[in-house]
Amino acid sequence: MKRRYQVLFLIFFIIILMSLQFVDAKINPNKTLNDKIITIDPGHGGRDSGTSYQGIYEKDLNLEISKILKKSLIKKGATVYMLRNDDSDLSSEWDSEKKRGDLYRRILKIQENKSDLYLSIHINYHYYNSVSGAEVLYHPINPNNLILAESIMDQFKNNLKTDRQVIKTNLYLYSNTRVPGVLIECGFISNSNERYLLQQKSYQEKIANSITEGVENYFRKIDS
Ligand SMILES: [Zn+2]
Repeated sequence: MKRRYQVLFLIFFIIILMSLQFVDAKINPNKTLNDKIITIDPGHGGRDSGTSYQGIYEKDLNLEISKILKKSLIKKGATVYMLRNDDSDLSSEWDSEKKRGDLYRRILKIQENKSDLYLSIHINYHYYNSVSGAEVLYHPINPNNLILAESIMDQFKNNLKTDRQVIKTNLYLYSNTRVPGVLIECGFISNSNERYLLQQKSYQEKIANSITEGVENYFRKIDS
């Protein structure tokens, strides 16, 4: 009798194992970013708070959104590196220009990671508080940057309220690496409604999912 239970248990165990494999096989086709290496660059940090509004700092929102974005990209199978995981910057005490040293090290890490692309996450500010909406900036140093910027901007237009367009930039970081990448301004801290939304986890997830969809579409375009 005891032996019969043991056999039954063994059969049950094998069935569970086989069904797990079946589930895994079903999930894998959705891992569209399986062989991709993506570096997330949460803007500012440490001594550099970025923009702010009454005690709300850009550097903190950048990090919160970046952490959610990391999870979202990993879910799709990507290998993800973060340039910072806490409230720190990448400058060294020996740097004569701290900001330049910080950006220089960000570029080095993006290249060291052998990234297929990088995503810089930032929050915007405008003198006129009526201005709102997410937007994507790109540098023409690599023609793929515009494709990536437009792919993400399209998802922002689909999923978030924004009528903004992609913008060409000549900022230091973006002009100093040929690795494809963009600067994502997730919204305006100077706009009261957007400032509220940018602090909500559900909205941060919406931003992260839109970026992930944009990245998937980008790879679909350049790989085909
Ligand atoms: Zn910024």
